[in-house]
Amino acid sequence: MNIKFFGEKLFTKIFFSVLSIVVAVAVLALYFHIEKFLEIRVVAWVIILAVALSYLISVNISKPIIKIKEGAKRFAEGDFSQKLEPEGPKEIAELAEALNKMAEELNKRIAKISIRKNEQEAMFSSMKEGVIAINAKEEIIRINNAALKFFAISSSPQDLKYKSVYEVIRNAEMLDFIKRSLNTDEHIEREITVLGEKERILLVNADPLFDLENKKIGTIIVMNNITRIRQLDKMRQEFVANVSHELKTPITAIKGYVETLLNTPQADEETKRKFLEIINKKSDQLNTIIDDLLQLAKLDKQNKVELTSENICAIVEAASQCCSKLVECKNINLEIACEDEIIANVNGNLIERALANLIDNAVKYSPENSKVLVTAKKENGVAKISVRDWGSGIEKEHHARLFERFYRVDKGRSRELGGSGLGLSIVKHIALVHSGKVYVKSELGKGSEFVLEIPLNL
Ligand code: ADP
Repeated sequence: MNIKFFGEKLFTKIFFSVLSIVVAVAVLALYFHIEKFLEIRVVAWVIILAVALSYLISVNISKPIIKIKEGAKRFAEGDFSQKLEPEGPKEIAELAEALNKMAEELNKRIAKISIRKNEQEAMFSSMKEGVIAINAKEEIIRINNAALKFFAISSSPQDLKYKSVYEVIRNAEMLDFIKRSLNTDEHIEREITVLGEKERILLVNADPLFDLENKKIGTIIVMNNITRIRQLDKMRQEFVANVSHELKTPITAIKGYVETLLNTPQADEETKRKFLEIINKKSDQLNTIIDDLLQLAKLDKQNKVELTSENICAIVEAASQCCSKLVECKNINLEIACEDEIIANVNGNLIERALANLIDNAVKYSPENSKVLVTAKKENGVAKISVRDWGSGIEKEHHARLFERFYRVDKGRSRELGGSGLGLSIVKHIALVHSGKVYVKSELGKGSEFVLEIPLNL
């Protein structure tokens, strides 16, 4: 039972308690010496002594307790910077020491918990998967940076806490998915296209969110950006379709001419020879496509190629022999200007193949009696090899896609000239396996320059 007497303050309580005891003792003592009790001076002294004694005892007990109270309040507010002084009676000093120990432990635990919380926060916000936790009221509990990026949301994750998903996410498909996930206890997933800073394809997974008592409180949504995978899938599908088409064209032609030959045994020798020449040309075309495909497949498999110290000029000379027949046929002036001593660590065969492709194109797409100039020089730590022609040239809109597999500016002309449409993509691959690059400068009607740059210190 809490008895209230002499007010609420600890000091007042102790003071009056001690004072009453002292006065009671004095009264009892004086009671047995009644004649002295009548002396006013003695009474006054007894009262003064009693008050002084009570004051001293009260201060001695209450001061350290008040200090402990203030300290405990500081600890409760999370301020552990100041320790308690163990003072006053033994028990009170021990209480202060016990409180100090408890505060120290508490401080250590709080530090550990906040480190763990910071680590989790850092992990959560730097995840490349987008994560959103949503409660049953369709409000956001947590959202990370990746999710904000996917939906082009500029607010911070803290600002979005307990905001309705309808206010934050502006994608109807996603909102429909969230609704569905809140209404089911099953794992669900869907591919969703979002138009944030750029178009992305997300693989979105949702699972129910449970509290510590295993009660469903919402849903947790994890989003993976699968745009690149889908692009690669599409590229693969297109590649297979292109390969099939490229192979089918010469095969259909070969089949047609063979059938004609079989069905018309009476055809004259000249016609037969003409047909056989066409069949031969188409077979060469098939061979070129298959050779180029095999070369690309080999380059795709190799991350690293064997490098040896080579003289670039010697490789340029060798590559220029590739199309000597066509050069002669079209009366092209193939000029080579090489700086002396360009020594680089390269795969000689691959660089020769790349340059042969570029020189072959330059000759192929040049008119008769024109010039093709091949130069090689050292510049800013790279071997810069340029193949320049004054032929048909290429419109700017095609430049970015020229190095893609099977990309041709003029399909008919390329096939007519026996091209596979893979030559420049092989050049690009060869440049890449040498940590180099290839680029084009060209203008329609003014000719083209293809430049291959290979670092000298590979
Ligand atoms: P192709 O076997 O068709 O020559 P490439 O990959 O070597 O295939 O070249 C792709 C396309 O780039 C060609 O079809 C052609 O349209 C264009 N091209 C390449 N080199 C030149 C060039 N020197 N001049 C004009 N067009 C070129």
